[in-house]
Amino acid sequence: PTTHERFSRFLKSGIYRFENSTAIFIDPVRVLNRFYTRFRVSPTAYYSRFFDDDDHNGNSKEETPEAPPDSRKRKRKKEKKPRPLNETELIAQRRHQEVRPLLLKAHETLLGTTELLAALKGLRSDGHFTDEECRGSALKREASELNFVELGRVWQSPLYEISLNFDQDQNFTQDGGDQISVPVFNNFVVNNGDNDVEAELLNRNYIIPRKSCFYMSDLKEIHNLVPVECESGFNLILIDPPWENSSAHQKLKYHTLPNRYFLSLPIEQLTHTSGALVALWVTNREKLRRFVENELFPSWGVTYAATFYWLKVKADGQLISQLDLFHHRPYECLVLGYSSQKDVDVVELSGHVPIPDNQVFISVPGDYSRKPPIGDLLLEYVPGSKDCRRLELFARELGAGWNCWGNEPLHFQDTKYFLKR
Ligand code: SAM
Repeated sequence: PTTHERFSRFLKSGIYRFENSTAIFIDPVRVLNRFYTRFRVSPTAYYSRFFDDDDHNGNSKEETPEAPPDSRKRKRKKEKKPRPLNETELIAQRRHQEVRPLLLKAHETLLGTTELLAALKGLRSDGHFTDEECRGSALKREASELNFVELGRVWQSPLYEISLNFDQDQNFTQDGGDQISVPVFNNFVVNNGDNDVEAELLNRNYIIPRKSCFYMSDLKEIHNLVPVECESGFNLILIDPPWENSSAHQKLKYHTLPNRYFLSLPIEQLTHTSGALVALWVTNREKLRRFVENELFPSWGVTYAATFYWLKVKADGQLISQLDLFHHRPYECLVLGYSSQKDVDVVELSGHVPIPDNQVFISVPGDYSRKPPIGDLLLEYVPGSKDCRRLELFARELGAGWNCWGNEPLHFQDTKYFLKR
């Protein structure tokens, strides 16, 4: 395809495949819009950071979200007397050096793609409102946003019901409309229709994409996801655990859990008879990378296959932080592996479609720690991928064709993140 064709494909799909490079640029708003027929994702609500005027808002602290409050002092100290790296830091440094050229090359490719680079600046404009208006109304609505984690804990939680309005664009009309109310916690809530529907919970509205299902509960209830029949297990399992780290604590966006809690996730029981591709988001902490490789994957029975990288850029195409900043790398990793039920040959599974190692995804990040929607890009590597059953664990949003579990999978489904088509 010509550059022009690549670009017009990007405008439709939100995915730009560079020439002579395996790197991919993603516009999450366009990718997510493919899940919806009646609504679309609000670009202003999605891209709340990393656009030019953030800098004029005194949000420059975003540049170093992972740095502890006293880091400046420490940095200054370090500059005076550089101490040698300890063993763990040396390993982390080696890992970084290995992937560095790859990331630099992907970034150079982006910077060399003029048409795309020019489009980046406009990703946040939705044509209807000024940024100021959007921010104002978002802030007003923020106050009444539901806190699902708290709601799920109170004694009344089994009583809370969500109402799905299926009547909204159907050809048939019924007295009272076609509305279904079901418990919102510890329950499978399903939209099997071909359109997204609006749902109501405690006077807030949520958009539920077509062919999606969610189960909102605490980790204690995760065993309820294990299918009764093994054929109804999952072929693609995407996981973004609430890893402990200083920045999540600091910003209090969600609760984190110690690593040992993740060892008992029932990955093998959730796996389809024809196997599953497991994709796990990990941070750059060396101890965490080692925990995943040496303890977590083995305890889940997952065989390592490849590592992908998410490179984060600002709207001007520059990296969100210097590539070599030790404590705040402008990239995160997605570690991939295969899971199989007992007595199934994993090697045979992985022979299916080989996963290229070191694939790089580039995007402008959304709200704090929201990951780009790369789930469906993994479909081609999924074993037995016809009619692939997809599961996201610790999800904060829903997707067409996906089953989503977490203690707040409706978080980004609030109507404040959407516009009417
Ligand atoms: N992938 C998500 C995204 O892109 O927006 C981010 C997921 S975030 C890293 C981890 C999620 O796990 C948060 O929504 C958090 O509330 C949830 N979580 C934390 N503790 C949990 C628990 N005990 N049970 C279920 N979910 C939990």
